[in-house]
Amino acid sequence: MGLLMDRDRETREAVIVVGGGPAGLACALWLHEAGMPVRVLEASDDVGGRVRTDVVGGFRLDRGFQVFNTAYPEARRVLDLGALDLRPFASGLLVQGRTARARVMLPWRHPLHALSGPLSGLGTPRDLAALAAVTARDMAVPASRLRAGPERRTDDELRAWGMSDRMIDCLMRPFLAGVLLERDLETSSRVFHLFWRSFARGTIGVPALGMGRIPRLLADRLPPGAVTVGARVSEVASDGVRLADGTAIGGRAVVVAADPESAGRLLPEIEVPPMRAVTTFYHAAPRSPLREPIQVIDATGVIADTIVLTDAAPEYSADGRALVSTSVLGVTTDERRVRERLTEIYGDTTAWEHVATYPIAAALPAMPPPFPLRRPVRVRPGVYVCGDHRDTGSLQGALVSGRRAAHAVLGDLWPPSRAAAAYARAGRGAARV
Ligand SMILES: Cc1cc2nc3c(=O)[nH]c(=O)nc-3n(C[C@H](O)[C@H](O)[C@H](O)COP(=O)(O)OP(=O)(O)OC[C@H]3O[C@@H](n4cnc5c(N)ncnc54)[C@H](O)[C@@H]3O)c2cc1C
Repeated sequence: MGLLMDRDRETREAVIVVGGGPAGLACALWLHEAGMPVRVLEASDDVGGRVRTDVVGGFRLDRGFQVFNTAYPEARRVLDLGALDLRPFASGLLVQGRTARARVMLPWRHPLHALSGPLSGLGTPRDLAALAAVTARDMAVPASRLRAGPERRTDDELRAWGMSDRMIDCLMRPFLAGVLLERDLETSSRVFHLFWRSFARGTIGVPALGMGRIPRLLADRLPPGAVTVGARVSEVASDGVRLADGTAIGGRAVVVAADPESAGRLLPEIEVPPMRAVTTFYHAAPRSPLREPIQVIDATGVIADTIVLTDAAPEYSADGRALVSTSVLGVTTDERRVRERLTEIYGDTTAWEHVATYPIAAALPAMPPPFPLRRPVRVRPGVYVCGDHRDTGSLQGALVSGRRAAHAVLGDLWPPSRAAAAYARAGRGAARV
């Protein structure tokens, strides 16, 4: 059924993208660069979706601790990495036990630390061999082979590679908890290998101006007026959308790029994954308690991870104080419990100020096996969907899904030769920036 009224006809030529997160912006950018008029309707007060940065009391606070990985192939394709001004973290981890702390570094990045992990007693020589083997394999083979590999839960996969329970509990589980936002390691092993490949091949870090810089760079390349914020879509059809205030807006096609739960409400026919939750606490300390840009993961599981963000990105603080980010799985406001653990990890925290807490109930789609690494982006004629729930739950997955949806729209609206030429042109445009 159509939603269009006569007054909407003049806007019909644009493709409407519902949602201005990374997936929607990437989709809009591909369409725009292919020469297709596009309009992004974003419900909240700015673009970015789950990747936004607030400025609070002079601190840059990402809405939940997250990182950019330079090895994400799609990010390399659509983003100007130079403009990100990335502040890298060390390629390794500090593993905090009840009392002791171990250091595990990627030896090809930090050769001086190559032996510190094994020497600190996290695993046996067999564990070390298993870790080296899985890392070397995941780095070396094409991603397509990892996508097609056998699939099982991640914990079963790690055991199949020869890792002991101790190694899994002391290193892999605490590390992956902060990445997958689950501690059972029930995530598909294919997803694990793709993420592991990115960690081994890339550098992680945050843009100097915050993670929100990533969607901002995408949005800035759209034509003026292409993005409307404060526009919540409540109904979707092949010829346009209706906003929550009743306004109908016509379009040649509609791409729903909303977060998974909102997408499920707009498109009842798509499957919506359960979401993983996380809470990030931000504290200001008079000075850095670590003086090193490295993530600390918690083998006890009280917290997931913590980092002194300003040791990597001094721009996250306006007054020279250190900004400490700490994430806990699930939704919680128990700052006292977190502070107790931070005191065990960093020493005295009595002079620290609690700056903010970000509880995020729907942070990342769950990805247990069997997990299709590519879900369809065509919903019904004229209606498409993209977002991290169509690929992997990550920036990489969101950006890929945006490109796939744009490709599908061009292929359906234009004759094949025109669509192919436009898509190639957009690809060259993306590669240029
Ligand atoms: C705390 C946290 C940590 C993370 N850590 C990492 C990490 O380290 N590395 C990584 O790669 N990924 C990480 N992720 C995942 C990554 O942020 C997401 O995969 C990505 O943002 C998904 O983008 P998206 O465009 O699919 O969805 P979203 O970012 O959710 O964007 C959807 C947009 O649609 C809008 N919208 C919803 N409904 C409507 C409607 N009805 N009308 C109009 N607009 C609507 C929303 O307001 C939103 O702006 C993390 C996520 C969180 C929350």
